[in-house]
Amino acid sequence: MPQLMFRCPYTNKPIRSGIGLVPENLSTVSDYPISVQCPHCGRQHHGTIADGCLTDERSPTLVPPEE
Ligand SMILES: [Zn+2]
Repeated sequence: MPQLMFRCPYTNKPIRSGIGLVPENLSTVSDYPISVQCPHCGRQHHGTIADGCLTDERSPTLVPPEE
């Protein structure tokens, strides 16, 4: 299932919300308020589902080839 990801406004790094969401449901919950604990700056970031974006966990992770 795709995971909802946010971006830290202070460090500009991605934050994993741990929330799985099917894209078909995104519009129905886009106004839902959410707070995430940011692992990069240590603050809580508040927003709505619409502030995040979905990432497909099923995509293979690109791993650089070992030399
Ligand atoms: Zn942050």
